[in-house]
Amino acid sequence: MPNKGPGVFEEEIEKIEDALGITTVEKAVAWAQANSMWPDTFGLACCAIEMMSIVSSRYDISRFGMERFSSSPRQADLLIVSGRVTHKMAAPLRQVYDQMLEPKWVIAMGACASSGGMFNNYTVLQGVDKIVPVDVHVPGCPPRPEALMEGIIRLHEKIKAGLPPAYQIRGVAQ
Ligand code: SF4
Repeated sequence: MPNKGPGVFEEEIEKIEDALGITTVEKAVAWAQANSMWPDTFGLACCAIEMMSIVSSRYDISRFGMERFSSSPRQADLLIVSGRVTHKMAAPLRQVYDQMLEPKWVIAMGACASSGGMFNNYTVLQGVDKIVPVDVHVPGCPPRPEALMEGIIRLHEKIKAGLPPAYQIRGVAQ
């Protein structure tokens, strides 16, 4: 299996940058964006109970600069969709997403948000990525708060690595 990590040259450059304390504007912006995300909650079902607990003292999401859950999409840059999305809720969800300013990211939390889960029927959307571009899927039914935390940390890593948000790299059904 070939090594797909950074090459020796890139590693040496990173070491020099670390030693000298220099960076690029893009890296500084990415660092700030990843460490000051304000989530907009979209709790729809049982998964939302697990999502709520990440603000508790046990999980303490404020360690990552995310203590402020926003009720307004205009002051949020992360949409955590937790729970099943019915077809009736699809339009409001898309409206909330459209009201968020860019850059913005989406986490699909749990089996229902990711794929419809056990609700393979005519009322439930079979995956929220049919209406909004998803950056991270967190598996589970429900995922434990630790799993959501891991999804959030993976998202932070993607942003710091310079990967664009999902809406820039793939379209979704209109
Ligand atoms: S994935 Fe499981 S816990 Fe989450 S909303 Fe669906 S049924 Fe409920």
